[in-house]
Amino acid sequence: MTDAAVWQVSFPEPDIAALTIDIPGKGANVFSRSVVDELDGHLSALEQRPGLVGVIFRSGKPGTFIAGADLREFAAQPDMAKDDVVAVASRGRKLFERLTRAPFISVAAIDGACLGGGMELALWCDRRLCGDSPKTQLGLPEVKLGMFPGWGGTVRLPRIVGLANAIEMITGGESIDGRAATLMGLATDVVSSASLDSAAVKLIRAEQQSRTYLEDRCRWHAPLSLNETEQTFLAATAAAYIQQQTKGQYPAPLAALELVMATAGLDAPAAGEQEAIEFAKIFGTPINRALINVFFVGDRNKKDPGVATKLEPQAIKSVGVFGAGIMGAGISAACVKRDLPVTLSDAAPVALAGGVKKILEEASYNKATKSADPQKMLKLAPLVNATTLDAEYANCDIVIEAVVENLAVKQALHARIAPLLKPAAILASNTSAISIGKLAESVEHPERFVGIHFFNPVRQMPLVEVIRGPQTSDQTVATAVAFAKSLGKSPVVVQDGPGFLVNRLLFPYMNEALELLLDGLEPRKVDAAAKSFGMPMGPITLYDVVGLDTALFAGRVMHEAFPDRVVEVPLLDALVKQGRLGQKSGAGFMRYGDKPGDKKDRGVDDPAVTELIASMRRPGTPPSEKQAVERLFLPMLLEATRVLAEQKVRDARDVDLGLIYGIGFPPFKGGLLFWADTIGAAKIVEMLKPYESLGERYRATPLLLELAKSNGKFYTP
Ligand code: NAD
Repeated sequence: MTDAAVWQVSFPEPDIAALTIDIPGKGANVFSRSVVDELDGHLSALEQRPGLVGVIFRSGKPGTFIAGADLREFAAQPDMAKDDVVAVASRGRKLFERLTRAPFISVAAIDGACLGGGMELALWCDRRLCGDSPKTQLGLPEVKLGMFPGWGGTVRLPRIVGLANAIEMITGGESIDGRAATLMGLATDVVSSASLDSAAVKLIRAEQQSRTYLEDRCRWHAPLSLNETEQTFLAATAAAYIQQQTKGQYPAPLAALELVMATAGLDAPAAGEQEAIEFAKIFGTPINRALINVFFVGDRNKKDPGVATKLEPQAIKSVGVFGAGIMGAGISAACVKRDLPVTLSDAAPVALAGGVKKILEEASYNKATKSADPQKMLKLAPLVNATTLDAEYANCDIVIEAVVENLAVKQALHARIAPLLKPAAILASNTSAISIGKLAESVEHPERFVGIHFFNPVRQMPLVEVIRGPQTSDQTVATAVAFAKSLGKSPVVVQDGPGFLVNRLLFPYMNEALELLLDGLEPRKVDAAAKSFGMPMGPITLYDVVGLDTALFAGRVMHEAFPDRVVEVPLLDALVKQGRLGQKSGAGFMRYGDKPGDKKDRGVDDPAVTELIASMRRPGTPPSEKQAVERLFLPMLLEATRVLAEQKVRDARDVDLGLIYGIGFPPFKGGLLFWADTIGAAKIVEMLKPYESLGERYRATPLLLELAKSNGKFYTP
């Protein structure tokens, strides 16, 4: 409920009104019920105002026009009766629709994010004009939340920009900038942000003269004119593309396509009514709820300082990195991209030289030309200080160690450089498995030591685990979190412990994939089971990508930590002994390089592996796909319940964020624990029963049993 006025009416000229939206105390303008009500009141008054020629919709918040509907209000009612959903959708649409009959010319003056419901308001205006702020983007991202527009977006957009453009925007959910909007005919022009208001007035004056907006009102009211062949072709190609993109796991884009095609031949009011009916069908579905949860989990993370105490993170103006390998180079490139100077060294001069090249190539990569931009490379080069002198790290605000995964090597390095750093500087390790508490033993100031675990490849993976050692201070954690965010990452704070968060949850799943092989399931079928659940890549392929040797090492760490439930699988050891290390060695579970020049070499089955597996295979019937899915994900879930019970992270939302951002856990499931909540703890206890003979790893944990008994959920408000 918003008590203070959200919309302000002003009159830049006596016959032109401006309606400025600025929700007090909020970073972005969003449509809630009260914001809609208030707009309704203003529109009614303006419709009655004699001699009014134009109304400009504008925002009082730099960087946002209107970012969409208030999801908190919206998602709070997923169980709303279908008739009520139709009523809510119709209410907004009919309010906006009044603009097409208003006695004045309406212009949306868009400077900043114009998304979802905000875009729909803009679409119902007679004209749209964009400011040149880099934040200006127009889009209908509803499909990303498992829905489609419900306030007339599917009606107006195709009628303004044509069916093909509209289908792309509505079913893809991507936004476009002002220039693209102008080229598409969605916006009239892009002007400097400073002159947007005066340009909107000028546009109204021009329309007042030409009266072309009246022709457009008629055109955009009418059915779309397209011949049947064109429509059939468009529908078929779009459906095939959507199917390929969503793998059938996200129904909203296809539903949106069907709606747009079905309503193309209707006039706008009839199409709007159909949209509301179809919208009610997709609203509140399990996938809609799951995707809204993912949105909230991500949104909370954006605002999360990582510590409970209120304190200012230290400013990071200069970064030091030790190790110029895969991770060191990736982390350095992420810094350089954001104009942060990096001091870099490596024990191997060749690695250092190669690292610098990789950093500059990556930081200057031009998506359009798909290559490094030499000009940019030259410009960025001074930001990388490749050195062999430890003394040059004395000015760094944070130093990240990304050398080989070896306790002794890391400890020796930390002990050597810690005394050289300036008093407030933070020392961080990018270790993937070594205890932060153990590493901190070799430094004088363990309160300024922290784990900052980036994921590979750094440029692609949004997750960063910030690992708190027993003595790491809040100040250090808050600074590490703020630093990771400044690089565009989503950090989750994890207490120290084997595998931290993500690898601890990944390993039961990876291990089980090997167990399934020994129980007779073919490698490709194991992958297929994981993919049928929604994982972007199957675990067997993941072994080949990560490297079997790396996985073996990490698996041993997990086995030592949790011998009761992490079983050692001799198969991995045997493959590593044969030199089958995965893609990097040309062979792992699959064989690579059989198709020279094939960049997407997915490998071919190798009889040698089939034979090896057969020699270790246990008797019995191979598991079905359903059993394979349960066997892969139930141990992961049980481990998550242990992580929660041990308070390694704050709550279920952190677990789910880590898995979605760190291993690509399917967003349409809402997260591992969100998914578990949709099934219910009692049912999960039942699902575990057939597997109990497999050992501790399938035994229901105390937390799960407690929730099953109390009918409780992992997600608490
Ligand atoms: P890498 O082998 O590519 O690079 C390590 C670099 O460290 C090498 O260039 C090596 O010459 C250098 N080095 C070794 N000892 C050194 C020393 N004493 N001083 C300076 N440089 C030294 O390894 P990587 O994959 O970049 O991994 C680095 C760290 O990041 C490891 O702790 C690893 O566990 C962790 N990590 C790796 C991944 C991954 O997928 N590769 C993901 C997350 C974390």
